[in-house]
Amino acid sequence: MEETFHYTVEQFADLQILRYRVPGFEQLSLRQKMLVYYLSQAALEGRDILFDQNGKYNLQIRKLLEAIYIHCQGDRTTADFQQFEVYLKRVWFSNGIHHHYACDKFVPGFSAEYLTDLIASVEVAVLPLGKGETVQDMCDKLFPVIFDPEVMSKRVNQVDGEDLVLTSAANYYEGVTQEEAEAFYAVQKAKGSQTEPVMYGMNSRLVKENGQMQEQVWKLGGMYSAALEKIVDWLEKAKAIAENETQHEVIRLLIDFYRTGDLHTFDAYSIAWLKDTASHIDFVNGFIESYGDPLGMKASWESIVDFKDTEATRRTEIISSQAQWFEDHSPVDVRFKKETVKGVSAKVITAAILAGDLYPSTAIGINLPNSNWIRSVHGSKSVTIGNLTEAYNRAARGNGFREEFVYSEEELKLLDTYADITDDLHTDLHECLGHGSGKLLPGVDADALKAYGSTIEEARADLFGLYYLADAKLVELGLVPDAEAYKAEYYSYMMNGLMTQLVRIEPGRTVEEAHMRNRQLIARWALEQGREANVVEMVVREGKNYVRVNDYMQLRVLFGKLLAEVQRIKSEGDYEAARRLVEDYGVQVDPELHVEVLQRYERLHLAPYKGFVNPVYTLQTDAEGNVTDVQVSYTEGYAEQMLRYSREYSNL
Ligand code: ZN
Repeated sequence: MEETFHYTVEQFADLQILRYRVPGFEQLSLRQKMLVYYLSQAALEGRDILFDQNGKYNLQIRKLLEAIYIHCQGDRTTADFQQFEVYLKRVWFSNGIHHHYACDKFVPGFSAEYLTDLIASVEVAVLPLGKGETVQDMCDKLFPVIFDPEVMSKRVNQVDGEDLVLTSAANYYEGVTQEEAEAFYAVQKAKGSQTEPVMYGMNSRLVKENGQMQEQVWKLGGMYSAALEKIVDWLEKAKAIAENETQHEVIRLLIDFYRTGDLHTFDAYSIAWLKDTASHIDFVNGFIESYGDPLGMKASWESIVDFKDTEATRRTEIISSQAQWFEDHSPVDVRFKKETVKGVSAKVITAAILAGDLYPSTAIGINLPNSNWIRSVHGSKSVTIGNLTEAYNRAARGNGFREEFVYSEEELKLLDTYADITDDLHTDLHECLGHGSGKLLPGVDADALKAYGSTIEEARADLFGLYYLADAKLVELGLVPDAEAYKAEYYSYMMNGLMTQLVRIEPGRTVEEAHMRNRQLIARWALEQGREANVVEMVVREGKNYVRVNDYMQLRVLFGKLLAEVQRIKSEGDYEAARRLVEDYGVQVDPELHVEVLQRYERLHLAPYKGFVNPVYTLQTDAEGNVTDVQVSYTEGYAEQMLRYSREYSNL
């Protein structure tokens, strides 16, 4: 009997929890499985670091809520308790008390009195009291943080003109003003190398004590030492069974960095890591992204463990190996074509564990390291995470979205049959070929299109992909199952660009983001240019708008025509034409259609944000205690996983 995999776990507030499969894990060798296991343990041990980075009361609040959740004997079916549960689930999801994306503090759906009752209902011994702290002390300290909207209201404040450090709740500075912090790091930057500057301040908390500015460095023996020691223990085990010398060196340098906190060692590690492209298993573990610091310096802790998706990477390799053929046959003027073109072979990976700032909400692509000088001298490593995209796609099936917006059964069937394949393929063509195709005429400034440059560039890459999706070459290369498949992407692209991407825009606003402008530009232009021949039309049925494509082959011709024009604009640096194209087609929103789309979307009750629970890895041993296998299972629930992590990896 075929086992069905349930991609959706649960939904609350504005969040949906999914799970992902790890295809290919069973086929790894025992040694590789052990390597994944050790690196996964190293990933999970860092969980508390991020909670503390996101706000200095987060850990105590989480522990308080968990103690009540586990030990409360009262009625768990009341509306108040359910609101309490939702609040705890949101704290887990955000790694703190602020929304993971919007950064605003969320408002509990229960009162301070109710929380007081809950606290009184459990034994004092299970409460997370600080040294010498009474229950009353704890409540006096934490209640304003939880309930008062004025206290720590934003995790990261970006409002121009305010002191961004003092007004942000993130725990990267203490008793320090923005001016003082900036001055402190300006001195460091001036003293250090100008050509190969390390990322100053990325692994420390900046505090002022007795009038003195001081960095509390995140390293063994320093801040977060208890968690970092555990991480290093697992990394040592991983190092001992590394796949090759290069990977061994990568892990050694990372351990050295955690021991010393030396940022030059971190750069050495980053360079070794980006050059390791041969290992099957790869990982990130460290202080990486700086979005959580209003000054963009302090890096939040995160980890991912992954291995190469050989099958999907083969797909991008096939595309790249044919780069010259695609360039030669594109519909753009020969003057704008590259004589020799090299495709980029993007690596597709399978995630095995997500942690820190990549859990539960995660990225689907990674491009690291972040150091500017390393990127320009040594390059970077770019990957897309195939099994997470798959999980998003599968979970979206049957959620009612397509049924609401797609014109008829015919298009629904097209999407069900082909969309997963053609969507990935369009991304591959965009990334591996689109951006790298074409050339500027001699003397044309690469920045000639100014503010319209990125929209035009995305349109160029998208159109390159759209044009070739319908090409017989793709069937020949075995990248699509048949000559009909491209229609799925054409339909969903037009529907998205003309209508459904509007769900991400607030009423009354225009389209601002470059990728969204590009999609609307292409879809609107094709609608208008094909109007006479009725290639694409908007059909109104029972008061609802739908997109209908009447002539797919002719739509391809239009995409080719627009590709030629967009390439001309880019190659000649024709600013005026770029401006007109973007302003005429990419920016303005039909307010009536916008309202209609928002209302239809709202009725579907879909959660706009998603995150994942991890699989569980368990060691299998024989009678002598030797490990014989590592098993992966996918049955753990959301609260169950969070509570287990809090039990097993509570290091701070
Ligand atoms: Zn792009």
